Amino acid sequence: MIEVRELVKKYGEHLAVDHLSFQVEKGQIYGFLGPNGAGKSTTMNIMTGYLSATEGEVIINGYSIFDEPEKAKKCIGYLPEQPPLYMDMTPLEYLNFVAELKKIPNKEKDQMIADIMKLVKIVDVKDRLIKNLSKGYKQRVGLAQAIIGYPEIIILDEPTVGLDPKQIIEIRDLIKTLSEKHTVILSSHILSEISAICDYVMIISHGKLVASDTPDNLGKLMLGANVLEMTIKGQKDIINQIFAEIEGIKEIEFHDSAEKDCMNVIVKCAENVDIREEIFYKLSDKKCPIMMMKTSNMSLEEVFLELTTDTTSVKPEKKIGFFKKLNKKKELEDQSEEEQMIEEDLEEKSESEVVEKENEDEGNL
Ligand code: ADP
Ligand code: MG
Repeated sequence: MIEVRELVKKYGEHLAVDHLSFQVEKGQIYGFLGPNGAGKSTTMNIMTGYLSATEGEVIINGYSIFDEPEKAKKCIGYLPEQPPLYMDMTPLEYLNFVAELKKIPNKEKDQMIADIMKLVKIVDVKDRLIKNLSKGYKQRVGLAQAIIGYPEIIILDEPTVGLDPKQIIEIRDLIKTLSEKHTVILSSHILSEISAICDYVMIISHGKLVASDTPDNLGKLMLGANVLEMTIKGQKDIINQIFAEIEGIKEIEFHDSAEKDCMNVIVKCAENVDIREEIFYKLSDKKCPIMMMKTSNMSLEEVFLELTTDTTSVKPEKKIGFFKKLNKKKELEDQSEEEQMIEEDLEEKSESEVVEKENEDEGNL
């Protein structure tokens, strides 16, 4: 239904969208999730024909948005981040105006506008000036203009931003209702927003797609990460030796502990592997008592943060690396030892150190 291929947008030297590719199938709610500045609005503006692309293709129902914009645009209703409302019109006047722009036949127009006003619940305010409406009502008028003509695809850029909680729930319900007849794509920088409404999530960071799946699967994927945090009394060498004998460990990190003679140990295990008992007996044999042990599964929230943390100097590759590590252990195994050591070395540095280092580098130029 929609195919975006290798989309690139540069503003001057700034790469806002970086070889983005994805597909959208009929009848679902898709969520574009990413922090501010990730490139969501830019992508949506290109997909809807409001902005040109530097490279790449957008095909809507078989029509290229660049080569056949009129045909492609007919399939789409768009609510941009700043709804294009005329403040001195009433909703009714405005929707008539939009219907004319969209070339809705006169005999269908009145009924369509009446139905849509009912759907988005603006009948009561249809004769007030738009400038006097609350933000929530303005947003509904914006939604109404996107629905005029009943396009197959409805694209909404941050549709709930700036609304109060009650209005957010109302707009959410409205979006769900819309999805019964339309394919909906919406963007948000708020995870809970996306996971509450969407069937499918695309996480975007620095103009790149860093993960895409159902909210459930993204969550499960992280449950697979299966992390154990421990404080163990004993020497690092001995503890390390013990862990080396245990199967199913993907990664192990040692940190100094505030407790005397103790190490903090973080172990990442393969999915469905529970090594707690084995650890208990083996450490006990070697007289290394466990002072604390807890499991910590990553939530979708943490995944999102990890994938998108917006410290501008940290390259997205690093985050993609993190994601791959969870997903594609195989890929890591295929790397040469030297590459792995470099990667491990990099990971030992905190993100702030990386930022500092890069700032230093810039300073040296
Ligand atoms: P999002 O909608 O995810 O917050 P945007 O698509 O608005 O992100 O912006 C992506 C990046 O492109 C940001 O770094 C932003 O500053 C930059 N940008 C957006 N619009 C322009 C513009 N007209 N000129 C220059 N840079 C822009
Ligand atoms: Mg935006």
